[in-house]
Amino acid sequence: MIDSHCHLAGKEFADDLQDVVHRAIAAGVTAALVVVAADDDAEYERAHRVSQAWPQVRFAIGVHPHAAGKYGDDPPEASRLTDLKLQAERDARAVGEIGLDYHYDFAPRDVQQAVFREQIRLARRRRLPLVVHTREAEDDTFRILAEESVGEVGGVFHCFTGDRAMARRALDIGFHLSLAGIVTFPRAFELHEVAKLVPLDRLLIETDSPFLAPVPHRGTRNEPAHVTRVAEAIGQLRGTDGAAIGQAARENFERLFRP
Ligand SMILES: [Zn+2]
Ligand SMILES: [Zn+2]
Repeated sequence: MIDSHCHLAGKEFADDLQDVVHRAIAAGVTAALVVVAADDDAEYERAHRVSQAWPQVRFAIGVHPHAAGKYGDDPPEASRLTDLKLQAERDARAVGEIGLDYHYDFAPRDVQQAVFREQIRLARRRRLPLVVHTREAEDDTFRILAEESVGEVGGVFHCFTGDRAMARRALDIGFHLSLAGIVTFPRAFELHEVAKLVPLDRLLIETDSPFLAPVPHRGTRNEPAHVTRVAEAIGQLRGTDGAAIGQAARENFERLFRP
C-alpha cells in the first residue's frame, strides 16, 4: 500500500530515516507522498535525502496555511516560491499542503485565503492536483475551490475529519478523501460513518507522520509503516480486509498523482 501523506523530510526523521524506510517496506508500504513546505529550505534539502533513502517517494510542495502570514504583503510570492521548488524537484506530483486552518489561526484569515488562492492558480497552470488542508474553515474552503474552478485538476482533502455532509460535498466536487490514524480511534464515531460512505474509488489512506499515530501507537512519533493500521481499521468498518483497502487506495493514488 501507499502512504499518501507524510512529512518524512521533517527534522523528526533526520536521525533514523533509513530505519523508518526499512520498516515501511517491511510492512508492505511501497511508496509515499512526502509533503514539503516550500518556505522551509532545510526541509527542502532533506527531501533529497528522502529520495535517496526511498526512491519510490513522490512530493507535494506548497506553503501551508500556518505559514501564510509571511506573505501578507505579497501573496503571489508564496506561489512563486512553490513554483520554483516544483520546477527543481523532478519527483513533485502535487501542490500542497495548502488550504485554510481557522482552528489555530496562525495567519490572518484573509491572508490564508489569498495564499491558498494563488497556489490553486499555480496548480491549474501546472496541471497538478491539490493536497488540501482544511480545519474549521469548511465554507470558505469550498467557496474558494469553486471560485478557482478546481475541478480541472482535482485533489484530495488530506486527514479528513469532517462529517458526512462535508464528505458528500467533497465528493460532489470530484475530490478524494484521505483518512488518517484518527479512524482507528474507538470514539471517532462520525469519522467511522465517513469511512463507510466514501466510494472505494475516492479513498486514500495516510499517516500524516510524524503526527497522529494510530492505535496502538498513540502518543508516539508516527511513521509510514503504520498506514497499514489505517487500512485495517477502514477494512473492519466496511466488512473487508486491510489489504483490499490498501489496494484500492493505491490505485486511486496512481490515478490522481501519476507517480
Ligand atoms: Zn495538514
Ligand atoms: Zn500534513
